[in-house]
Parts: sequence; structure tokens; C-alpha cells
Amino acid sequence: MVKVPVKLVSWDEIVEWSFGLSRIVTRDGWRPDVIVAVARGGYVPARLLADFLDVNNMLSVQSQHWTEAARAEERAVLKYPFKVDLNGENVLVVDDIVDTGETLKLARDYVEENWNPGDVRTAALQWISSVAKFEPDYYYLEVKEWTWFQYPWTRLEDLKDFIKRILREDDRLNNGFTLEALTEVFREWYGVDPGEFGFYWDEAISSLVETGYLKKEVS
Ligand code: AMP
Repeated sequence: MVKVPVKLVSWDEIVEWSFGLSRIVTRDGWRPDVIVAVARGGYVPARLLADFLDVNNMLSVQSQHWTEAARAEERAVLKYPFKVDLNGENVLVVDDIVDTGETLKLARDYVEENWNPGDVRTAALQWISSVAKFEPDYYYLEVKEWTWFQYPWTRLEDLKDFIKRILREDDRLNNGFTLEALTEVFREWYGVDPGEFGFYWDEAISSLVETGYLKKEVS
């Protein structure tokens, strides 16, 4: 049985979803003066929204909740807090997904309390309505069943985390294993075939070998 359901998201889907999200904002008759990307997941959607909404002003805050793919830390923290004066300008704070909602809420509250903005609104490509404690003002897709969305900008990082987690938690691989065995267990855990990750799979394995996490044995 799949332990952590994973869906690979393509670059084309990201463009389509970001464009759809921009239309939702436009249809609402609201226009931000500044777009704030929540680092790191919000960078790409925020940049695409800036293009689709014709917004030139961008800033970023790093609000972080998940330190490893599919494993939540207790609380979100704001890294590198800094202050600017936005002179009452309207702000759209953007992230990729709202899961618990802690990350986007913390970023929104920080901007509201510290940057002297006008109207502050939030947007995300996806909103996991069944678990989120916070609903963004704008979202493109509502997700009902919790899934880890494997976005293209964290493909290598996530893949390494996925493999590390198997090695930590699945004792079937305790005493050495072949790549075929790892592939099989990976499929079982995440419901996706490593082949779907293309060159990232070999890259993840090489990187784990380089950093000493995996040891290669030639037989
Ligand atoms: P949260 O504070 O729980 O709403 O988590 C938000 C951040 O963690 C997002 O910006 C994502 O980068 C990452 N994240 C959380 N849950 C998921 C998920 N189900 N799929 C992909 N990324 C996620």
C-alpha cells in the first residue's frame, strides 16, 4: 500500500495553474502593486503571476514549515526578517501550496504588521482544504485528499528525501539492496515509478553516494 501519495507536477501544469490563478485575481477586480514570493516554494508561481498580472514589484520572505519532503516541522518560522515601507501599496503574498497553512499565514501576518502595506491578500496554486487551517484569498485548485505534490523546482531535493526516508523507515533494505529492490520499494511507498523522474533518479542516487549516505558495492 502507498504510504505517501505523490503526484509529479510538470512545468506545463505550473504555467497553466499560475495563469488560471492570475485570471481568478483579475476577475475579482483586484490588482496588487507588489507581489511577495514566499521562499522557497512561492518563487516560481509568484514570478509567473507577476508576468500574467503585469506587476513589476517583487519581494520575498522566507517562511518555512517543512524541512524535509512530506514531513512537517511543528511550527513555521520566518528566516531573515527585514523591514521595508510599502507606503500603503496593495500586496499579494504567494506560495505554491497551502497545506497546514502555517507558512503562508505567517508570511501574510509579517507583511501586514511590519511593511506598512495597503490591502494584503494571499494566493496559492493549491489549497488542501481537508487539512488547512487557513484559506488563501485566491487559489487555483482545491485538493481534498492529502497528496505530496512534487513540484519541478524541488525534484532532486524531494527525491533524495524520499529515498532517505525509505532507508530510515523500511527495514527490508537494512542489509544491503540492489537498485531494482530500491525501485520496487520506492514504487510501493510513493505510488510513482522512479522512471518518471527521468535523469533526476540517477542524479539523486549519485548525490547520496557522494555524500556518503549510500555506499556502492560492485559484485
Ligand atoms: P504549510 O505551512 O503546511 O502550509 O506548508 C507550506 C509549504 O510546505 C509549501 O510552501 C510547500 O513548499 C511545502 N508543502 C507543504 N505541503 C506540501 C504538499 N502536500 N505538497 C508539496 N509541497 C508541500
